Amino acid sequence: MHRVHNFSAGPAALPEAVLDQIRADIPDWNGSGMSVMEVSHRGKDFVQLAAQAERDLRELLAIPDEYAVLFMQGGATLQFAVAPLNLSAAGDTADYVVTGSWGKKAAQEAGRFCKVNVAASSADSNFTNIPDPGSWQLTDGAAYLHYTPNETIGGVEFHTVPECGDVPLVADMSSTILSRPIDVGRFGVIYAGAQKNIGPAGLTVVIVRKDLLERARPEAPSLLQWKVYAESESMTNTPPTFAWYVAALVFRYLKRQGGLAAVGEVNRRKAASLYAAIDASDFYSNPVRPDCRSWMNVPFILGDSALDGRFLAEAQAAGLANLKGHRSVGGMRASIYNATGEDAVQALIDFMRDFEQRCA
Ligand code: PMP
Repeated sequence: MHRVHNFSAGPAALPEAVLDQIRADIPDWNGSGMSVMEVSHRGKDFVQLAAQAERDLRELLAIPDEYAVLFMQGGATLQFAVAPLNLSAAGDTADYVVTGSWGKKAAQEAGRFCKVNVAASSADSNFTNIPDPGSWQLTDGAAYLHYTPNETIGGVEFHTVPECGDVPLVADMSSTILSRPIDVGRFGVIYAGAQKNIGPAGLTVVIVRKDLLERARPEAPSLLQWKVYAESESMTNTPPTFAWYVAALVFRYLKRQGGLAAVGEVNRRKAASLYAAIDASDFYSNPVRPDCRSWMNVPFILGDSALDGRFLAEAQAAGLANLKGHRSVGGMRASIYNATGEDAVQALIDFMRDFEQRCA
């Protein structure tokens, strides 16, 4: 068997221990004589798995009881619409802080359902920093404030949680959830597509403060109302059972690693060593202001973009996969989520040094 070091931005690497467990479980899951894909989501075994997954996620993130945990579908992109439909009336204003492409898309989609005020944007720096919170133009009585704690394409990450008083803070945590401990109590809503740190594509995790469940527009489709999921243990209709099962295995795995404090420490080290290697070289560079560099997505460019193709081909041949930057920005991007270990990051750094020596 041949496994590469996988730097994909998502769907992303899964822990090998989880893949091994899946392989072992496939023909006969839980002594059922069936795979988990073949059993009813309403059967005792699956209902138990779902409940355990929620308990493990609550433990990992220390989610307070006054929050509901929902397992939905449609990806983070659907939540771009679900957030305004659940938190605003048509004439309300929602504030958006835009620090990259995903926040921009979220604001655009929300604009179909409510008034959107872009309270701050770093578009003029080509999304390489976070505007000083003192400069944000927040709306009095905003329905909510939305931001993207980690912009997956630009590699820009908030390392502190913004203050917004009583206004519910809504965070698209797709590419940073489970990378370290967070204080869930600071948020109104957290949502994340699963396909980076949680599990396979197809599942979306939403953590929502229960008092906010009452704000949904009555005309919103029931499958787009958080409250409907909260009242049905996310079994409103047939959920993505396989993705949910894999997420449950990932949560277990993260607990075995020592939880998010331990995982976060490894992630901090991985990012620090990769940025240090980039900064120490005249050949590679990362454009993001150092205080808002992402721990999860590290974009970098080569001094000579004519070498991009060769870099990628040689990296692939060396077992380092999926390093091509997003099509909108070019260059390279190493996504170093939880399942991409320190060994992978070290292999990348060694390869980058060797390539530089040969080509600079
Ligand atoms: N938000 C962020 C921060 C993302 O990284 C992504 C996907 N890479 C999305 C939203 C869109 O997610 P999905 O494809 O699950 O809708």
